Parts: sequence; C-alpha cells; structure tokens
Amino acid sequence: MQFVYRFEIHPIHEQEQKLFYILKLCRKLYNHALNERKTAYKESGQGLTYCQQQNALPIFVEANPEYKKVHSQVLQDVLHRLDFAFQRYFAKEAGYPRFKNRDHYRSFTYPQVDAVKKTFSQPGFIFLSKIGFVKIKAHREFPAGSVSRVNVKYHGGKWYVNLTAEIPETKPVPVYKNVVGIDMGLSHFAALSDGTIVDPPKYFRQSEKKLARAQRRLSRKKKGSNNRGKAKEKVAKIHAKIANQRKDFLHKTSAAIVKQFDVVVMEDLRVKNMVRNHRLAKSIYDAGWGQFQKYVGYKCQRYGKVFVLVDPKGTSQTCLCGENVPKDLSIRIHECPACGLVMDRDLVSAKLILERGLEKIARV
Ligand SMILES: [Zn+2]
Repeated sequence: MQFVYRFEIHPIHEQEQKLFYILKLCRKLYNHALNERKTAYKESGQGLTYCQQQNALPIFVEANPEYKKVHSQVLQDVLHRLDFAFQRYFAKEAGYPRFKNRDHYRSFTYPQVDAVKKTFSQPGFIFLSKIGFVKIKAHREFPAGSVSRVNVKYHGGKWYVNLTAEIPETKPVPVYKNVVGIDMGLSHFAALSDGTIVDPPKYFRQSEKKLARAQRRLSRKKKGSNNRGKAKEKVAKIHAKIANQRKDFLHKTSAAIVKQFDVVVMEDLRVKNMVRNHRLAKSIYDAGWGQFQKYVGYKCQRYGKVFVLVDPKGTSQTCLCGENVPKDLSIRIHECPACGLVMDRDLVSAKLILERGLEKIARV
C-alpha cells in the first residue's frame, strides 16, 4: 500500500534559489518536449513516445549544459509527466496538453531515492540531490526507510515535500496465542469461549417497547386518515433508531473482539438452525447475526487476524469430553453425566466451535 506524507521544508536562501532554478528548467524541458511532440506529429503524422524522448534526453542535456544542474531522474520524471498528460488526453480524460507558465508548474519529483543511505541520513533534514540537506519540519511520524519517491512543491510562498512510502500489508500472525470461538443466539446474543457473555444493551428493550406501542397505535387508526399518516411516520422513525442502535452495538462488539483475539471462529450461519429466545430484544437478532458475522469477518481481514467459519451442527448437544448430552431449548445449563461438567450451555457451544475452528486451521 502506498502512503503519502506531506511536510513543509525550510530551504536557506541559496537552496531556495536552486529550487526555483530547477523548477524553471523542468518547466522549460516540459514545454520543449511538448513542442517536439507537436512538431513531430505535424511533420510525420506520428507523435513521439516516452521512450523516444527519454533516449534523446542525453543529447538535449549536452546541448543545454545548464541541465547538468538537475538530477537526471528528475528530468526523466518531467517527460513522464508529459507522457501522462498525453495518456489522459488519448483516454479522453483531459484536454490536449498545454504549454505551462510559471504559475502552472510548481513541482518536480525525485522518482527513486535512497531513503536509508542518503535522504534521511541527517536527523531534521532531507537530502535533495543537487540541492543538499534541507531542513524539514516533520510534525508526525513517518516510515523514513520506506520512502521511495520525493515530490518537491512550491505552494503559497512555501516549500513542501510529498513523500511516497510503500508499506507492506499486514499478514496473518503465524502463532496463535489469543483464540476465541463464538456461539450466537440462544440465551444470549453471543457467548465467547473465554467465558464472556455478550448481551444487547438495555436500551434495545426500551426501543422495542416503544415500537410495539407505536405499532398498536397505528393499527387502530383509520386507513387514509391524517392520523394514520402520522402514526406511520412514528413507527418508521423508531425503526430507523433501532437500526442505528443495532449497527452501533454490532460495530463496537465486533471491534472489541477482533482487537483482543488473533483467531476468531464463528458458526457458519447458512447451516445453523436459527432458534431464538423471545425474551430477548427481537429486532437485534433479525438482522443482527448475519451483520455481526460480516463485521467480524472484514475487521479480521483488515487487521490481519484469522477468521474461520465452522459447521455448528451438534455443538449444542455435545460435551467438551465428547459425550452426547441432549437438551431441549428450555435447559440453559449444561450438565454432563459422564465428566460432571456444569456450564452455561452457550459457553459449551462456544468452546466446541473454537475446537472445530482450530482443527480446521491445523488441516490446512
Ligand atoms: Zn462431559
């Protein structure tokens, strides 16, 4: 992934003169190269390519020795910039490239710098080839060693550098210390295998009650009446509020879990038999499970964590020891006659889900 960091630089007078001079030479080269392309097209019906222009560059510099004061890669970048303008023109994304005056040519670029050995070898300074070490005001941290490209820009009477850094994307951690299995939706919103129980916040219940009341009121209003319209609006408003509360709850819960664990195992909802406890706020479950799984999944991806889905079949009827312990929905506590384990049934399921997930990872 590429990141760009912008900082102000403070050249001393002599350096600033050089910066202006380089800008001027780059602009002149740009206009010269544009003129060449135009002339070539007029005379032969064919324009010039970037490669042709780059090959001709040393001859141009020989004929115009003042260009020896500019780093050769900076000059190549000028030709790239022109080529890019033509590409955009051919793609119909921009008009025909124009000659640039001083106000429209304000930056030049070092496309490949050696950040480690040279560019940031002096603290508080940035090295610019043919200019020297220029004071830089880096007001925030940046990955100096990963900077590969330096763009120097004059804007509003000040000088800036745009530093492009290439940073590798986060890869999954190979050693899994913090692992978790999540069981969703029987007596709790979610149960985590580490013993954490997640229930929806109390305000859901309040919103649910409000919604039920508003819906009752709506059903009593005459069709087509003014009052019915108002009552409908009220119901819609409460629905929207609940949706927001749900989203907020799901985001916060998923973020906390992904932050804490390196491996997250969840049930594959496509094969889960959806049973629900009606005593809990209903609307959070209606859309909540799928959404929650999606949030956890993409957050895992973003932070380089491992996300595993497993078939939850039988997890509610089995003990950690492997014994089959059948129980209907009314039974909340798991009691194993074989090993004597007594535990919240959802927690047992969460631990089994985690086990299945870890087995699945081990097989890969
Ligand atoms: Zn057991």
